[in-house]
Amino acid sequence: MQYQTAFTAQDFASNLTRVRSRIDEAARKVGREGSEIRLLPVSKTVPEQRLRVAIGAGCHQLGENKVQEALRKYRALADEDVRWSIIGHLQTNKARDVVSFADEFHALDSLRLAEALDRRLQVAGRGLDVYVQVNTSGEQSKYGLSQEELPGFLTQLTAFSSLRVKGLMTLALFTADVERVRECFRLLRRLRDTVRETAPDLIGDGGLSMGMSGDYEIAIEEGATVVRVGQAIFGERSTPDDHYWPTGSSGNS
Ligand SMILES: *Cc1c(COP(=O)(O)O)cnc(C)c1O
Repeated sequence: MQYQTAFTAQDFASNLTRVRSRIDEAARKVGREGSEIRLLPVSKTVPEQRLRVAIGAGCHQLGENKVQEALRKYRALADEDVRWSIIGHLQTNKARDVVSFADEFHALDSLRLAEALDRRLQVAGRGLDVYVQVNTSGEQSKYGLSQEELPGFLTQLTAFSSLRVKGLMTLALFTADVERVRECFRLLRRLRDTVRETAPDLIGDGGLSMGMSGDYEIAIEEGATVVRVGQAIFGERSTPDDHYWPTGSSGNS
């Protein structure tokens, strides 16, 4: 798929309107309300100048994969009305940076990291909304817990009172095979449903952070409550995806 680079407020407004209406349409198709679904614009690689235009067009929460890039933008855009979501794998030694500015974190996948975040958060006297990342594609290279590890992990997370678990997050398989993509999303929903039935206190709102530019409509059909959309709003990225997560191939089409 080709995504035009958005430069002007008009470009951003029309991209946002288009994505939003597709979200609403996908929701309607399965009897859901579009208003149940949060659109999280993902701004990685997009320079600050264009982010100011995007914020002006209504992007008041932005997702970034890498903490250093996010922190740099946070500082450069401190005068703007914008909050930051870290959506990519995090090393334990970056916990302090996340705590210093991030609003939410979508890729929690280890107890060591949970412990490091909680320790920093307690010192800072604040909490953090988190989504637990699950590897639903079965690819060795993908980050995230296995489905078998999830229940025990959620139980152990209760030790970290500053982490507010909002739900689960996943990246689907990168393939043009829609049914295999759908299976990943469906698995995440099933895991969420099971926890809801057996231990509802462990999963907060039971949110599902899943779906990106190439597959957010499928994710919504399968129950996504947050879609993380970059290229369909900002335009094509030149950086290959394997810069952001280990994968055999790059691109998701
Ligand atoms: C970049 C990224 C996205 C958005 O991908 P697009 O193809 O730009 O929509 C979603 N989730 C994560 C974890 C990402 O790093």
